[in-house]
This record gives sequence, structure tokens and C-alpha cells, in this order.
Amino acid sequence: MPERHADVLVVGGGAIGLAAAREVARRGRSVCVLERFALGHERGGSAGWERQWRIQYSQERWARLALETLPLWRQLEAEAERPLVHARGSLWFGQVGVATSEGELALAAAVLDALEVPYDWLTALEIERRFGFAALPRDHEGFHQADGGVIDVRATLEALAALGVRSGVRVVEHLAVHALEPDGAGVTVRTARGDFRAESVIVACGAFTDALLAPLGCGLGLRVFRMASAHFARR
Ligand SMILES: Cc1cc2nc3c(=O)[nH]c(=O)nc-3n(C[C@H](O)[C@H](O)[C@H](O)COP(=O)(O)OP(=O)(O)OC[C@H]3O[C@@H](n4cnc5c(N)ncnc54)[C@H](O)[C@@H]3O)c2cc1C
Repeated sequence: MPERHADVLVVGGGAIGLAAAREVARRGRSVCVLERFALGHERGGSAGWERQWRIQYSQERWARLALETLPLWRQLEAEAERPLVHARGSLWFGQVGVATSEGELALAAAVLDALEVPYDWLTALEIERRFGFAALPRDHEGFHQADGGVIDVRATLEALAALGVRSGVRVVEHLAVHALEPDGAGVTVRTARGDFRAESVIVACGAFTDALLAPLGCGLGLRVFRMASAHFARR
């Protein structure tokens, strides 16, 4: 049976929970991650192989945040002794002015301008010539941003978990948290295999965060949606 007390308990062992736990441990606090499945499982937001890493966002604060993460990624890569973000460039194109769940082309370009991040604005013909597309609709335009790239998700999760454990993070897998009960001195964490106790709790349950926060009256009002992605080999 795992030890049932830590300065900080992290609920959720996805990318965010593992990164938070590692940071807490580096600051000298005892920390334990409770994950309802096994680390690296395929039923959460951090599932799969790749994620795009990009600076362009329609919201300037997100773009600033992405820029701030760059030295942190480099530091993580140095400690993990392997590359985690592969900068292959990021090509965004489509109908300008159309808002999608990923943002809006002209707005994202305006944010890059404001932050003085370089990019190439391209017409449909230029995109075809440079990137091997054919017969693009002529109203398509977009941009190429050279610093964008691809996050190696599996390698990142492995690195965060391994470096965390090396810093003293404890991980308990296959244990779901059912409820959080804060009081003046800390938090009681209810699980199917008994209670845990911590001074503080970090809730990093991804899409399921509100299941723990809403009963406390501080739900985030998250809306879960399904997104279809398609990947094409370049010829
Ligand atoms: C299809 C898809 C494409 C995406 N594309 C991109 C992209 O290109 N670029 C980008 O930057 N981001 C992208 N994202 C977003 C990014 O992947 C996620 O924001 C990130 O991985 C979420 O990590 P997380 O740790 O917050 O959540 P998760 O990885 O979901 O981790 C939450 C963990 O909490 C556990 N958990 C939940 N409830 C409990 C409980 N009660 N008790 C114990 N454990 C619990 C879950 O099992 C899970 O392991 C994408 C997401 C998806 C789904």
C-alpha cells in the first residue's frame, strides 16, 4: 500500500500532471501522482504520438505563453538527453477569416506581427510550389512559421515521468480519485482504496477536471468536443 501523505498530491498523470509533479519535487516538497489508469495510457488528452508545437494563436496571451515555453523545452530536452520538439516548421492555410477550433489565420498572423515573430505569408500558388500541394482552391492562403514543429508525445511523457521519479515523485497507478475534501489544514483525497492526505492538491484531470472541482463549487465549465484529424503523406 502506498504512503498516504504528501505535501502535494497531483490527481492525473497526463502531460500536465507529470510536469507539475516534477516541478513541485524540484522545489523540495514531497509529491505523489494518483492516476486512474497506467501512465502512458491511450484514454486521455495526452494519448497518441504527436502534437503540433506552434507559436501562432489567435489569442496573444497564448502565443506569449508558447514563446515562454521554448527555453523550458530546451531545458527538458537537455535533462532527458533526447529531442522532444522537432522544429520542422508549421504551415497553416485555408480560407482566411474562417474561425476554426484551432484559431483564425489572419488573427494568428496579426498576433505574430505584434510579437515580431517572423513568418512567410503565402498564396495558394506559392503553397503548391513550396510544399508540393496540387490544385488548391484559389481562395486559400496562409503562412509558414519556421519555429513551429512536432512534439514527440511518448518521449515527452516518458521524460517527465522518469525525471520526476528521479527528483522524488511517487506515482500510484490504477487508482481513481473520487472526491476532494479541503479543510483548514489541507485536503482529504477519497479513493476506492482509502483516503490520502495532503497540504495541497493539483487537479490535472484534463477533460475530467470538473468531476472533482464542480462539487466544490469551483468547476471550470469545461465543454468536451470530438475533433477529427487527418494526416497525409507528402509525395
Ligand atoms: C486529439 C487531440 C489533439 C491535440 N492536438 C494538440 C496539438 O496539436 N498541440 C497541442 O499543444 N495540444 C494539443 N492537444 C491538447 C493536449 O494534447 C492536451 O491539452 C494535453 O495532452 C492534456 O494533458 P493533461 O495532462 O491536461 O490531460 P490528460 O492527458 O487527459 O491527463 C489527465 C489524466 O488524469 C487522469 N484522471 C482523470 N480523472 C481522474 C481521477 N478522478 N483520478 C485519477 N486520475 C484521473 C486521466 O486518466 C488522465 O491520465 C490535443 C488534444 C487532443 C485530444
